Amino acid sequence: MLHSLRDKLGLSARVYETGNGVGGTWYWNRYPGARCDTDSYIYCYTFDKQLLQEWEWTERYPEQPEILRYLNHVADRFDLRKDIRFNACVTEASFDEKANRWTILTAEGDVVTAKYFIAAVGCLSSSNLPKFKGLETYKGKHYHTGQWPHGGIDFTAKRVGIIGTGASAVQAIPEIAQQAKHLTVFQRTPNFCVPARNGKIDPAVVNTRKADYDAICERVRNSYFGYELSFIEKSALEASPEERERVFNEMWDQGGFNFWLANYQDMLFNKEANEVCAEFLRRKIRETVKDPVLAEKLIPKTYPYGTKRQPLDTNYFETFNKPNVLLVDVNETPIEEITPKGIRTSDREYECDIIVFATGFDAMTGPLTKINIRGRGGQLLSQKWSDGPHSYLGVAVAGFPNMFTITGPGSPSVLSNMPVSIEQHVEWITGCLEHMRKHGIATMEARADAEMQWTEHVAELANASLLPTANSWYLGANIPGKPRVFMPYLGGVGPYRQKCDDIAAKGYEGFTFAA
Ligand SMILES: Cc1cc2nc3c(=O)[nH]c(=O)nc-3n(C[C@H](O)[C@H](O)[C@H](O)COP(=O)(O)OP(=O)(O)OC[C@H]3O[C@@H](n4cnc5c(N)ncnc54)[C@H](O)[C@@H]3O)c2cc1C
Repeated sequence: MLHSLRDKLGLSARVYETGNGVGGTWYWNRYPGARCDTDSYIYCYTFDKQLLQEWEWTERYPEQPEILRYLNHVADRFDLRKDIRFNACVTEASFDEKANRWTILTAEGDVVTAKYFIAAVGCLSSSNLPKFKGLETYKGKHYHTGQWPHGGIDFTAKRVGIIGTGASAVQAIPEIAQQAKHLTVFQRTPNFCVPARNGKIDPAVVNTRKADYDAICERVRNSYFGYELSFIEKSALEASPEERERVFNEMWDQGGFNFWLANYQDMLFNKEANEVCAEFLRRKIRETVKDPVLAEKLIPKTYPYGTKRQPLDTNYFETFNKPNVLLVDVNETPIEEITPKGIRTSDREYECDIIVFATGFDAMTGPLTKINIRGRGGQLLSQKWSDGPHSYLGVAVAGFPNMFTITGPGSPSVLSNMPVSIEQHVEWITGCLEHMRKHGIATMEARADAEMQWTEHVAELANASLLPTANSWYLGANIPGKPRVFMPYLGGVGPYRQKCDDIAAKGYEGFTFAA
């Protein structure tokens, strides 16, 4: 966005970033095993063809340090740092209706005014540390996966407790178990994991992809989820058990998001179809985990497959066969408190030298509502969204003129390969600003009726699927008191892009403009 504002539109622009460097997610999430679950060749920027050609990814799913190197390379290549203020956390942004300008404040004392306020705060940047009684009494060290220390942590000879079994924990647990003397995993909700099947990329494949990048970009932009994957145009229930078994095994062997995003088309919409997919994965867990009682604890039974973020694993279930790894099901024995020595559940105390909180994020709305954003009439965004996010296209909010939210709630965002959605928003916002300049427009604002219709449309699509039936962070179910509203747009990356482009072509239908 910065590159686009500055180098394409010739605007003066400044980025404020809490961290002490670029990288966002990959600056903060440095836990062992942290890596991307999107194939590297499409987890990158596509706006510069030369950049696409010159960067070499080493693995199918790059590890956090490699992605961070890439993002630093991009920052250097486009000379971005000079317009980024690091160690600057934005705390307030308010719209001055007389001047038609935003005033932005940081915790460090910056006060700046700007015509446009673009929130690129990320969907998963506000880490969630649940309120555990007694945490302040704990004598050991504790860390959140989303705020990991830069120097890393040595788990050697340590007794470690990890709370949570979501996508970050699924990556971290096998790595920590290799180092630690003992690892206790505290699980609330078991996960349907599928193997990542990570590895080095064959140079011949790299060359073929590089020669085909224009077509790859086109396919990915017009796809449903921002991947080169599409559903099988058939019901899982139409396929014979033999055919299903063959297809499931093929997807299982391919690894990655194939099982999730290239499955039978009714898998996310029909309970019965979903159940046959879920049963296949449950069988795989039973085949992997040697202790049958333990296997049953690790098997998800309370929600449909694919309705929570799909974790990709490398030896996750195998790790539970190790003698130094223990699973505690907190549904059976809830965590009552953190003690000076460790974690106490309803039946005993587990002593830990280190506690890892893999407890996720206040997703999507969290990073926005943490900032005191005030629109017209001093209205707070957090108040406007007290019953869930209301936005137009996930990019604009009625009552908040000249404010744009990159991958905001109501856009495909976390239900897509994020760089694809980020670039689409950047392009669209750039187009908007160009339009405003060309026509001498001072403010652009989503209309309340357009916002209401869009918000209803987002809910309608979600409710036609099985996704809202699980307690996932897509619905804010991990945050006590957060309204249960499905936040990402399920209409697909390609169709969404088309809608946004159509709206722009119709002179930004649904927006009002003032000179
Ligand atoms: C562990 C993990 C794994 C992931 N894996 C994948 C994956 O495999 N595929 C995929 O597509 N996506 C994945 N994601 C999602 C990932 O967030 C996006 O792919 C992408 O990094 C989002 O980029 P962004 O710039 O929008 O947000 P972020 O990378 O989150 O960056 C937002 C930045 O805004 C800063 N910020 C927030 N609030 C403020 C404030 N008030 N003031 C100043 N600065 C602020 C933050 O410090 C952060 O640096 C993953 C996320 C996590 C956490």
